[in-house]
Amino acid sequence: MTISPAALKAALADWRAALGRDAVFDTADDRAAYADHYSPDEATHMPGAAIAPANTAQVQAAVRIANRHRIPLWPISRGKNFGYGGAAPVQKGAVVLDLTRLKAISVDADAGTVLVEPGVGFFDLYDHLQQRRLPFWLSVPGNSWGSVAGNALDRGVGYTPYGDHSAQICGLEVVLPTGEIFRTGMGAMAGSPNWQLYRNGYGPGWDQMFCQSNFGIVTKLGLWLMPEPEAVLGYDIEFDKPEDLGWAVDTIAPLRREGIIRQSPSMGNWLRSAAVMTTRSQWTDSKGPLGEDVITAIRRKFDIGWWSVQLRTYGPLDMAEAALRQIERAFAGKPVLKMKPKRWVKGDGLEGSPFSGVPVSFPLANANWHGGRGGHVGYSPVLPMKGDLAMDQFRRTYALYQQYGMDYHASFAFGERSITNVNQLLFDRDDSAMMGRVDAMFRALVADAQAHHYGEYRTHIEYMDLVADTYDYGGHALRRLNERVKDALDPNGILAPGKSGIWPATSRAQSKRK
Ligand code: ADP
Repeated sequence: MTISPAALKAALADWRAALGRDAVFDTADDRAAYADHYSPDEATHMPGAAIAPANTAQVQAAVRIANRHRIPLWPISRGKNFGYGGAAPVQKGAVVLDLTRLKAISVDADAGTVLVEPGVGFFDLYDHLQQRRLPFWLSVPGNSWGSVAGNALDRGVGYTPYGDHSAQICGLEVVLPTGEIFRTGMGAMAGSPNWQLYRNGYGPGWDQMFCQSNFGIVTKLGLWLMPEPEAVLGYDIEFDKPEDLGWAVDTIAPLRREGIIRQSPSMGNWLRSAAVMTTRSQWTDSKGPLGEDVITAIRRKFDIGWWSVQLRTYGPLDMAEAALRQIERAFAGKPVLKMKPKRWVKGDGLEGSPFSGVPVSFPLANANWHGGRGGHVGYSPVLPMKGDLAMDQFRRTYALYQQYGMDYHASFAFGERSITNVNQLLFDRDDSAMMGRVDAMFRALVADAQAHHYGEYRTHIEYMDLVADTYDYGGHALRRLNERVKDALDPNGILAPGKSGIWPATSRAQSKRK
């Protein structure tokens, strides 16, 4: 579906009438405000306009207008999905459906659940809980500026035991691409007290179908909250050599599998600290890959290893202590560089940290590593939780960073059975030589992962078709199923064409699939 300027104009007039003049943004400045400010090329994904309904009825009205004029919408909650596209759509000219104004929060303090609307940010929910002295902790991503619902829907992660955000979802309210509204799980029964309590409902479960998809617009999202623990204990562990990754993965893996460590630790390299606290020019004038001397200087300044990992146990103090002893036993006699104990017990002041669910935004500073107009894209393949495979993955990726002259920024985040190798390609958008290498490097990384049958868990809007191509079982049978569902739910193809490589029949020709 190409976007006809006349149809867009007519749709904008209808949206103004339905939502109010101040809910429609279509100047050049407005479009730029919703562009992806971190991406190598903002123009390719420049939205055509943005609209911001104030409530669910207006979302439905806006969707019906989009159907009438065949204008694609790109729903965002708060649009802070930096590294993956920000607020911008896959398809150039699509209209951003900004849900920031939907901000209701409803906490069930007995059950420890919350029902949030998409505009609720992590800071909003944190303030809400604090002001009412409700004893629950959030799990926050590195950029807590974003939306609680939006992050869970894109399968974002945090660092407490509730850090797998999409796994905490319990019940959704969804506006379908045709404008109808429905509720998943127990919410399908009017007045059910169990909507946020029981995940499965009756018959097929639909919550996960709306994650990383373009099958509907989520207007309410239920989530389980972590009861405030009595204690958080752990160690910040430093490792001296790149090769330590292998045995460290094999040491942490059983602790994770057995549930002794219930949070998702993330083992990352020295650039993680340096890139948020300093800029590259403070360390070197050289353009090439950072040398051993610079790496050593960075490590000395921050008193860190080649790799660092933070392990935490949560719960009643004696249970957390027992789990901590298991960690100590697992690492006893292992060649760690340093193990710094960490201890928080209820009553102690809460330090602002992702481990205690306090929202943070400082990790965003890493976009400034190169100075200039900084940005980054994420590359995050999933692999088995095995040390030798992690080492192998590290070596191959590191070599590609060297080959393309980029600074290695990576972590290995432990799931319960897999690890996700989260890499960031940090760049300066004003450096044309560097920008000329980014796209080729990204494609080389994806190809390398695919050669080992590893897929990305999430990707940037520019690469959604590329990554969907790698999920190739049965001649892309998954994509065919997704698109059959897409066409059934969205006959006019108006909702987020291209999200996760899923294109409606009306615009499938625009896909960059191979
Ligand atoms: P955050 O602000 O937390 O980073 P975003 O609002 O940028 O989250 O959302 C991330 C992605 O998730 C969006 O690009 C969109 O594809 C999807 N998404 C976000 N909110 C919704 C929603 N309410 N309904 C459907 N999809 C959504």
